Amino acid sequence: MSEMYPKRGAQDPALLDLDELDRYERAHIPPGPPPKQDPRLRVLNFDEVFLGYDQEQAIVEAARCIHCPSPEPCILGCPLHNDIPTAMLLIEQKRFVEAANVFRATSNMPEVCGRICPQESLCEGSCTVAGYDRAVNIGKLEAYCTDWQRQHAGFPNYHIARSTGRRVAIVGSGPAGMSVAEELMRDGHEIVVYEEWPKPGGLNVYGIPGFKLFKHIIAEKVAWLERYGVKFICNTRVGKDIALQTLLDEYDAVFLGIGAPIGNKAKLPGENLKGVYQATEFLVRANLPLQDLPVRMRARPEIGKHMAVIGGGDTSMDCVRSSIRLQRQTGMTDGVVTDYYRRTEREMPGREEERMHAKQEGVQFEFLVAPVAFHGDENGHVCELELQRMALGAPDASGRRSPQPVEGSNFRVPADIVVLALGYSPDPTIGDTMPNLEKGWKGLFKVETEFTGATNIPGLYAAGDDVRGADLVVTAIAAARHAARAMDAYLRNLDTPLKRESLPFALEQNAAVPAE
Ligand SMILES: Cc1cc2nc3c(=O)[nH]c(=O)nc-3n(C[C@H](O)[C@H](O)[C@H](O)COP(=O)(O)OP(=O)(O)OC[C@H]3O[C@@H](n4cnc5c(N)ncnc54)[C@H](O)[C@@H]3O)c2cc1C
Ligand code: SF4
Repeated sequence: MSEMYPKRGAQDPALLDLDELDRYERAHIPPGPPPKQDPRLRVLNFDEVFLGYDQEQAIVEAARCIHCPSPEPCILGCPLHNDIPTAMLLIEQKRFVEAANVFRATSNMPEVCGRICPQESLCEGSCTVAGYDRAVNIGKLEAYCTDWQRQHAGFPNYHIARSTGRRVAIVGSGPAGMSVAEELMRDGHEIVVYEEWPKPGGLNVYGIPGFKLFKHIIAEKVAWLERYGVKFICNTRVGKDIALQTLLDEYDAVFLGIGAPIGNKAKLPGENLKGVYQATEFLVRANLPLQDLPVRMRARPEIGKHMAVIGGGDTSMDCVRSSIRLQRQTGMTDGVVTDYYRRTEREMPGREEERMHAKQEGVQFEFLVAPVAFHGDENGHVCELELQRMALGAPDASGRRSPQPVEGSNFRVPADIVVLALGYSPDPTIGDTMPNLEKGWKGLFKVETEFTGATNIPGLYAAGDDVRGADLVVTAIAAARHAARAMDAYLRNLDTPLKRESLPFALEQNAAVPAE
């Protein structure tokens, strides 16, 4: 087999005798990257770039897992400690629903994580097979089996604990809030989620573009939670429309999952000119159906021939890629989209894959430059961006070499639209209304530890970006799951949180739905 399979080089399970494969042979199965939309076509739509595996490809890719001895590096590398090797084996055996349930046992949003986690620095970054060839494509397989389950069998049916009569208010419906809602609903508590945007979902909906994550996935999850009695109250800003203290008075416990939504300012002349956007406003107006936006935002962002994005993280890549789609969709084939970043490409914090996608789609990059001013025309609209060249100096606290301005190097470039993607900070509104609530760096909520999420106010918990600062979906879910266990113990007056069974769905769900 070891000689035969690589020679045939086929991604065809019919050619593999999976029962016979040893670790060496598995490690030498050629990797099968999932197909993508052609860059020339995908700039004309906001659909997901990855087209996903088909069944045969998924089975062969899963067979590349060599089932490392415990502790498996991929499990250690995953913040949720998903049991990846077991899921890989089940996929290989065409038991897709069971594989999906292995992911669901430790994750509230495996179809999201499978798509947008930076796997190269988490599970796949730890995968032993990467020593031979490309790591097992764990993320795309996670997405494959959980999509398969939703499409063929639906979300798994839960066994819900007997009603406790306790009521919980959750503020924010991002990954953190939704995970706490799901966990505590299963524990038999009554859940009400308050959300400021017109629809639930947090940044998964109001931020991350459709070409990375189909929005219907979140809508399906919300509908499913509603079926189990979770109530979503949207268009409601806690701290303004309803006081946090009112929630604390009316509910038995409250969870804060409000994220870190305030876009950092450039603090430069001309920042308030027309045509200068903050990343989130630009992304939601570019990506979402207008009826899903608040009335004041219901218009597409402006498009220009020269569109500039400032920043080097994932948000900046989302902005350049949305910009080029807007240009191309309106027939502006000679439009230029440029990302300006103050360090070199090597120091860019965002995912390499996203950068590569952006380049394939025609985005230009200018490195070692920082903005110094935005210049406007007679109508008060931005028309030029003034930049200064930078050189790399000594490493800073993050370990990356810090950019130093090069004297006398200023220059101007045309810019009809500028999007600022300079990172995010917490929103102080709620904290300001509750002075006795302890806060930490930049106003992030202070919690006892991330294993409880308990704030200094009894019954008030927090997790996600409002505790960690802007981070990842998977880390928000992980902390939220810990907070949910601690909240359940609080609501039941227990000293130690109850544990979940390891495979909560296996007995109840349609695990027997066969793959063709
Ligand atoms: C453009 C962009 C792209 C990203 N891409 C990725 C990626 O590819 N992969 C990845 O892992 N992570 C990515 N992230 C980060 C990820 O989205 C966040 O880390 C994650 O969503 C944090 O979850 P959360 O639940 O803590 O907060 P959020 O998702 O921010 O959810 C908070 C929710 O609380 C609501 N809210 C806030 N204040 C109030 C209030 N006072 N009253 C009521 N509701 C309120 C907000 O409207 C929001 O819906 C990206 C972030 C951005 C901005
Ligand atoms: S590290 Fe890679 S090869 Fe090892 S068990 Fe995990 S997925 Fe399989």
